[in-house]
Amino acid sequence: MAQTTASKQSATLPPGSPLIRVEHLSRTIANRAQRTVILDNVTFTIPAQSLFAINGPSGSGKSTLLNMLTGIDRPTSGRVIFAGQELRDRSENALARWRGRHVGIIFQFFQLVPTLTARENVLLALELGGGMPRSAWRKRAQDCLEIVGIGSFGNRLPSELSGGQQQRVAVARALANDPPVLIADEPTGNLDSHTTHAVFDMLAGLTQRGKTIVYVTHERELAGRAGSRIELLDGRIVGQQNADAATTHVAEVER
Ligand code: ADP
Ligand code: MG
Repeated sequence: MAQTTASKQSATLPPGSPLIRVEHLSRTIANRAQRTVILDNVTFTIPAQSLFAINGPSGSGKSTLLNMLTGIDRPTSGRVIFAGQELRDRSENALARWRGRHVGIIFQFFQLVPTLTARENVLLALELGGGMPRSAWRKRAQDCLEIVGIGSFGNRLPSELSGGQQQRVAVARALANDPPVLIADEPTGNLDSHTTHAVFDMLAGLTQRGKTIVYVTHERELAGRAGSRIELLDGRIVGQQNADAATTHVAEVER
C-alpha cells in the first residue's frame, strides 16, 4: 500500500520539481591488479516530467549510471534519492519490487520475448508487476499498445514486426505498470534515421502524459532534444543543461 502511495506521489510531482537527485555518486571496480573508476563524483538532478538526456561517447559510464538510477547496481559511494526516498536503504528484494512499480526500462535491442505476441509481452509485464488486478490486464495492455501507436499489431510476434514496431512494443511493456519514470539505454541505437525520429517523437510525447523520460544517447542531435541534459566523459560530468549538476572541465578529465 505504501508503495502505491509513493508511486502516485512521484507521478504527480509538479513538472520541473526534483524527481531524482544523484549526489556525489562514484562507482569503482577493483580486481587484484587495479581499481577502475567508472563514475567519479557525479551530482545532478532529474526534473519531474522532463525529457532528460545522458550524453557521452562509448565507455563514458552512461549505462553504469542508468543501472544506479534503477537500483540494478549499487554505487561505491554517494547516493540516489528518488522522490525523496534513498535507494541504498533497500534490500535487493525491496528494490526489485520498487523497480517494478517506479521505472520502466527500454533497451537498445528491444529484449522482447520472441515466442510471445506483442500483447503477451505487455501482459507478462503486468503479471510480473503485480500492481493491477488480473481483470484489468487485457484492457491495460491494449491501452499501452495504442499509446505507442501499434494498437492493431497486438497479435503479431516480434519477428513479424519492424525494428521500430518492436521498440514500440518494448515501450508499451515499459508503460504497463504505469511507472512515473521510463529509462531508455540508446533506445534508437538499432534503428535507421527515419524510424529513429518517429520512435523518439513518440517517446518524447510521453512527457505529456506525466512521464519522466531518461534516455542515453551518443548522438548530439538527440541529446539536443532534451529539456535537461548531462554530458559524460570518462565517468565525469563535463557539460549540463538545466540539471543542477557539478561539472568538471574537459581539460581536467583528459589530463
Ligand atoms: P557506456 O554505456 O557509456 O558505453 P559503460 O557504463 O558501459 O559505458 O562503461 C563505462 C566504462 O566502465 C567502460 O570503460 C567499461 O569497459 C567499464 N565497465 C563497465 N562495467 C564494468 C565491469 N563490470 N567491469 C569492468 N569494467 C566495467
Ligand atoms: Mg552503454
